[in-house]
Amino acid sequence: MSTLRFNAIKESLHRKPVYIEENDRRSELFGKNVFNEAAMRQFLAKDAYESVMDAVQNGTKIERVVADHISAGMKEWAITKGATHYTHWFQPLTGATAEKHDSFFETIGGGLAIEKFGGSQLVQQEPDASSFPNGGIRNTFEARGYTAWDPTSPAFIYGTTLCIPTVFVAYTGEALDYKTPLLRALQAIDNAAVAVCKYFDKNVKKVNASLGWEQEYFLVDSALAYSRPDIVLTGRTLLGHSPAKGQQLDDHYFGSIPVRALSFMRDLETECMLLGIPVKTRHNEVAPNQFELAPIYDEANLAVDHNSLLMDLMDKVADRHNFKVLFHEKPFAGVNGSGKHNNWSLGTNTGVNLLGPGKTPMSNLQFLTFFINTIKAVNDNEELLRASIASASNDHRLGANEAPPAIISVFIGDQLTNVLNELENVTTGKLSPQEKTDLKLNVVGKIPDVLLDNTDRNRTSPFAFTGNKFEFRAVGSKANCANAMTVLNSIVAKQLIDFKKEVDLLIDKKGMKKDDAIFNVLREYIKKSKNILFEGNGYGEAWHKEAKKRGLSNNKTTPEALKARISKKSLALFEELGVMNKVESEARYEIEMEEYALRIQIEGRVLGDIARNHIVPTAVKYQNVLIENVKGLKEIYGSSYKKYAAEQLNLIEEISGHIATINATVTKLINERRKANALMDIDKKAHDYCNKVKPLFDEIRYSCDKLELLVDDELWPLTKYRELLFTR
Ligand code: ADP
Ligand code: MG
Repeated sequence: MSTLRFNAIKESLHRKPVYIEENDRRSELFGKNVFNEAAMRQFLAKDAYESVMDAVQNGTKIERVVADHISAGMKEWAITKGATHYTHWFQPLTGATAEKHDSFFETIGGGLAIEKFGGSQLVQQEPDASSFPNGGIRNTFEARGYTAWDPTSPAFIYGTTLCIPTVFVAYTGEALDYKTPLLRALQAIDNAAVAVCKYFDKNVKKVNASLGWEQEYFLVDSALAYSRPDIVLTGRTLLGHSPAKGQQLDDHYFGSIPVRALSFMRDLETECMLLGIPVKTRHNEVAPNQFELAPIYDEANLAVDHNSLLMDLMDKVADRHNFKVLFHEKPFAGVNGSGKHNNWSLGTNTGVNLLGPGKTPMSNLQFLTFFINTIKAVNDNEELLRASIASASNDHRLGANEAPPAIISVFIGDQLTNVLNELENVTTGKLSPQEKTDLKLNVVGKIPDVLLDNTDRNRTSPFAFTGNKFEFRAVGSKANCANAMTVLNSIVAKQLIDFKKEVDLLIDKKGMKKDDAIFNVLREYIKKSKNILFEGNGYGEAWHKEAKKRGLSNNKTTPEALKARISKKSLALFEELGVMNKVESEARYEIEMEEYALRIQIEGRVLGDIARNHIVPTAVKYQNVLIENVKGLKEIYGSSYKKYAAEQLNLIEEISGHIATINATVTKLINERRKANALMDIDKKAHDYCNKVKPLFDEIRYSCDKLELLVDDELWPLTKYRELLFTR
């Protein structure tokens, strides 16, 4: 065994759980390090407080003079909490969070110094951001980027730094981050949904999109993780034979949480409480050493920030517990991968969940309006929705035989399927203003009863209705939810705008009554959206055939999937809503394609290195042992030695075969990579990495994994799957 592997196993076996003391109630800890309403009331003058609240609730601008007051209060609060620095905290298109700390400390001459934090520092900063991905935006416009305060997500203290959530944009206004388009999409859906809500309730002034993410992850002992160059450099194992026992016994799911993992979770949850991240649920997932964490849902922008912050926090807390967190969607072949279910709904300022079925016919018509419009939006934009979750790592789930498939479909359950069928058949024939509405509203009135036992669930669906929300399950565990949330909220916003136009047209031009008009448009939508509804097994081969017949896309790889981002239709949709202009859409496409190529490039390099520097030399070493053995047997037994050396001779030959395959394929891999790198066109480059470079990984891995089975365990240099997955 290599010293590294040996020491790593030894170290991990001697780990003790870190004891976590919890003296305070969590409700008391909650939000302690957040500049929330309570803190603002205490540290801000009344008009400053009201101006922030107005910005949060109504999107009004905060005056510069008021910003000075706010920053002063924020600074005082932060200093009482032990903060020494502040930072604009943002989410560039790398997917991670970015921060650059500045001290409050300032000299004022005469050898004196003070703590200072002015309104201008709060409102706007100009980080030297030339190294963040921008898809050519900054080159094109020769403009620099700046960060600007997002008052809708409260500032918080992380360590000893006051973090101010910000957007990151070019001076010319183009978004360079995840948050900006998300905020625009949330504004778009707010406007569109409020307009539709007015049909039902004139008091609705604001609609918030909500998000409750469920974060899956793996915990691997840090010594073991760091003994694997592939985990360190790519976040996943590029090779490794599956262990004799994996997840086939289903003994990990919801099982009792291992002690070390639990103390990590408690520590993490305490930190989450302080930062106002309302985490609630924790449990074991399907695969060994795989877990899930879920919060109480929140307004989507805040929830996205919380998820980004959480992922950063998890890394840091894991360090204290000698764990490495793997967020990769598929860290281990042959066992379950990780996702991040995005539970999504729409809620009004009057406290109504628009995707929660109501008790009266009227509120049910409202529910059906939002329910059916969402289905129609997904139906019309399934390819764009697929693109919103595309990444090299998520391809391992979506494109492979794992949940959910790359085909987007919507699951609504038996009862709602029946309701839609009934509604569709209430009357046949053309729309007419003379149609009676009573019957229809009766049908609508049936819904609350049938929904009470809405327990059926289909775990294979990428987009499922679960009682009072939709659950977008195809989002990657590693992804920033903003991407998926921007697209989902945009397509539903666009759909609601179109819906309102159609309804108004029927009312104004055909003199239809409002409920009639709404109902008639919805019925047409039910007919038009049938293709996207699927209740069966999403993993099955039959569905792939059926989906193809229906004309649904099945984009298995990221380069294929991303095309939908820059289709005429998508560009127009984002442009119309003011979410992204053409330049921004195209820049994002380019960044994501580039990132894809880079990920595969790095994986290819790492795999080539490990195969050549770790695996082949080990195989040769073992082969030499066998050769020595055969030589010895020959010495003893003379010409009849083969009788005693049959197994050894076979092994020698097999090993040579695998070495030859590895050698030839790694050489091919290097050549294909060179060719791909020489391509200037990012489109071609990403496709080549996908179709010519990536397939070679499997061939190399196959031989390496076979060698793992053949070579003496004592010699094997890489920590094995059973050690990575089952060490507690
Ligand atoms: P599971 O899918 O594991 O069975 P649940 O469906 O009960 O779990 O809840 C998952 C997540 O859905 C939680 O984070 C919860 O806060 C969130 N959720 C519940 N209601 C809503 C809503 N109206 N909008 C967004 N998320 C919601
Ligand atoms: Mg769920």
